[in-house]
Amino acid sequence: MIETVSASAYTIPTEQHEADGTASWDATTIVVVTVTAGGATGTGWTYGAPAIVRVVDDLLSPVVVGADAVAVPAIWAAMVAAVRNNTRAGLCGYAVSALDIALWDLKARLLGCSLSQLWGPVRPSVPIYGSGGFTSFDADTLDEQLRTWVDELHLPRVKIKIGESWGHRIDRDVARVRQTRSRIGPDVELYVDANGAYTPKQAVRLVTEAADADVVWFEEPVSSEDLVGLRQVRDRVSADVAAGEYGYDLTYFATMCAAGAVDCVQIDATRAGGYTEWHRIAAVAAGHQLQVSAHCAPNLHAHVGATTPNLRHLEYFSDHVRIEQLVFDNALTPEGGDLVPSRDLQGHGMTLRQERAAPYRVA
Ligand SMILES: [Mg+2]
Repeated sequence: MIETVSASAYTIPTEQHEADGTASWDATTIVVVTVTAGGATGTGWTYGAPAIVRVVDDLLSPVVVGADAVAVPAIWAAMVAAVRNNTRAGLCGYAVSALDIALWDLKARLLGCSLSQLWGPVRPSVPIYGSGGFTSFDADTLDEQLRTWVDELHLPRVKIKIGESWGHRIDRDVARVRQTRSRIGPDVELYVDANGAYTPKQAVRLVTEAADADVVWFEEPVSSEDLVGLRQVRDRVSADVAAGEYGYDLTYFATMCAAGAVDCVQIDATRAGGYTEWHRIAAVAAGHQLQVSAHCAPNLHAHVGATTPNLRHLEYFSDHVRIEQLVFDNALTPEGGDLVPSRDLQGHGMTLRQERAAPYRVA
C-alpha cells in the first residue's frame, strides 16, 4: 500500500543564457516526486513549473496514498480521473507523469529488480544523440559542445537548435548547420530542431540551402500543432521529420500518426503520462510502422527505451544531463555512444541527493 507521496521543486540556473527558435531561458525547474511503500522509495520527476507540486499535493496525493502499490495502471487511471476538471494537458499531466514514473520505480524496487527487468528488455543498451547547440551559443561554444559529444563521448549523432528568432535568422541558421557539419566530420549524423519556428516553405528552403550539410533529422520544422504543415515538409525533404514533445496523451499521438505528419514519433514520459502511457503510445506508433524517440530527461528514458521494440534513440539533452548528474545518485554516463541501463540497481536506479538539491529548492 502506498504510504506517502511528496513533491518538491528545484530551479537550477543554466551555465549561460540558452535559447532555441521560439523560447529562451536562464534556469530550468525540475519537480521531483517520491512515493513510499514497504520500506522502499520510488522517485520520478518532470521539468515544469513549481506549481506542479501543488497539483501533486492537492489533486493526486489523495487518490494515490492507500492504493495498492503494485497496481500502477489502476493508480494511473485514478490520477487521470482526478485531474479531469482541471484538464490533463499541461501541469496536471506533468504531475501525473512524474508520479507514474515514481510508482513504477517503486514497484520494481519492491520486487527487487530493475525497470528493464520488470518490463523485459529488447536491447542491453540504448542509442542516444547529443542535443543542445542552442541558438544563443557563439561559434566557439558550439564547437566545444560538439567536440565533447563527438570526441569525448563518441556520440554518432548530434542535434543543434535552429529557427533563431522565429525563423528571422535563416542565414545564421544555415551558417551554424554548416559549422556543425564541418566540426563533426562526414560520419556523424546531423540533426536540427526548429522548435516550430518556421513556415512550411521556410523549412523546405532551409534544408535545400544547407543540402551540402546532409541533415537527416528535422524536428518541429513547423509548429507541432500544424499536422498538415509537418506533412507538407515531410513530403518535400529527405530528412526525417519528427515531433511529439508536447503530446500529453494517447489520442494526441494517434492523431499525429494517422495524419502521416512524422517519420519518427517523439515521446516524453515526463509529460505524456509517465511510463504507463509511454508503452501505449509506442504501440500505437508501431501500428503505424513508426519508430519512437525519447524527448529529454535522458536518465528516465534509458530503461523504458531498452524495453521498447520500436525505439530509435533517446535525446541526451545537455540541459537535463547537467541537472540529473547534479542532483541524482547513479545518473548515467554514455558508454560507446549509448546509455546502458543498470541491471544491478533496482528500479531506474536513481535517488535524489537531498544535500545537492536543497540550495535550489523553490517549492
Ligand atoms: Mg525539440
